[in-house]
Amino acid sequence: MENIVIAIDGTSASGKSTTSRALAKRLEYVYVDTGAMYRTLAWYCLKTGVDVNNEKAVASTCRKWKTRLACIDNHVQLLVDGYFPEKEIRTEETSGAVPHVAAVPKVRDWMKSTQRDCIKFGNLVMEGRDIGSNIFPETDFKFYLDASLSVRSKRREAEGVNENLAARDQRDSQRKAAPLMVPLGAIPIDNSDKTIDEVCDFIIEKMEGISGKPALA
Ligand code: C5P
Repeated sequence: MENIVIAIDGTSASGKSTTSRALAKRLEYVYVDTGAMYRTLAWYCLKTGVDVNNEKAVASTCRKWKTRLACIDNHVQLLVDGYFPEKEIRTEETSGAVPHVAAVPKVRDWMKSTQRDCIKFGNLVMEGRDIGSNIFPETDFKFYLDASLSVRSKRREAEGVNENLAARDQRDSQRKAAPLMVPLGAIPIDNSDKTIDEVCDFIIEKMEGISGKPALA
């Protein structure tokens, strides 16, 4: 039987990661953070001195870097030269660089085939910006998370990160290649006043309604 994909898209700090991790745990699905993959490429460009504004250089780096997908404790990781730069990809410098590499069409092509390949690991909860619109448009289970800008900024501040989220969202929404948008058929969820458990309950209820089957693996 074909594996299931739950696509979770949404704005920055909209709770995609926390929700997707919790949902994957509850359903015993595999969690895939596609933002971490773009962040890894941005970090790798910075580390190797590649100008993230130079589209050709970024595309060429993406074509040549040595990567491998690993599934560890039901979480997919993109390893570069065997290494997952968990901490390095969360710095302000990397956050600032990532929308530039993410706007390169050849990078998005590479990411698409790599992210689709994750289906080999099992049923997926995959979070990002273009999962329902571009990576797995065929899935029946698409959700779009959002929260007010003030709630989202507070969440980032609580993590010790002071970032201009609106600027990053604007860049992601306005790029030509696979821009951030509410995918066709996606169920929008504003979680400004909802707990993670409430959002997971809602998603599971909707999924079961759509498929007519229990969502648990
Ligand atoms: O989700 P996260 O904040 O880690 O994503 C970092 C950046 O990666 C986004 O701002 C966006 O530029 C890019 N991204 C993307 N498409 C995805 C996931 C992330 O363009 N599917």
